[in-house]
Amino acid sequence: MNRTRLVLVSCCAPCSSGAIEQLAKGDIPDVDDFIVLFYNPNIFPESEYKKRLDEQIKYCDSLGVKYAVLEYDHDAWRDAVRGLEAEPERGARCGICFAYRFKRAVQFAQDNGYNAIACVLGVSRHKDQSQVDMAAQSVCGDIKYLPIKWDDNLRLQINRETDFYRQNYCGCEFSIRKKQ
Ligand code: SF4
Repeated sequence: MNRTRLVLVSCCAPCSSGAIEQLAKGDIPDVDDFIVLFYNPNIFPESEYKKRLDEQIKYCDSLGVKYAVLEYDHDAWRDAVRGLEAEPERGARCGICFAYRFKRAVQFAQDNGYNAIACVLGVSRHKDQSQVDMAAQSVCGDIKYLPIKWDDNLRLQINRETDFYRQNYCGCEFSIRKKQ
């Protein structure tokens, strides 16, 4: 029987808290091993990227969970979404952004002996889960994509009880909400 070794693609600590706790407790059937992957070259500016990364690392360390951090190649990400700067959130730019990050996650999985991917990129109410799932499936190849429905109540409870740094925009410069 094939063991499931999962890469959990994460954007930040508040979105991933519940999923990480479910996985760490063994609450997701058939997942034998997992690692949290932080690959978010979409985040701008770099100071914001560092805040989200620090918070992600702090949370993984608090649970004794493995994590990996990949390169912050924001200029290459900008090239990938060129021409789509004016798209709204959930529009075409987001589909490209998700696929860009999943593609690198698949490469990470292949290089490191993992055979499945799941993510928390769709848990925010601002996101379209089906768009996230489609982007992942379009690049997964021989790596299995698991569209796990995480426990929202658990995530919200952890987030109420934990003093996470919380951002008020998705990540890229085009998603920064203007103050009214
Ligand atoms: S709004 Fe979020 S998902 Fe969409 S392109 Fe920007 S960072 Fe990526």
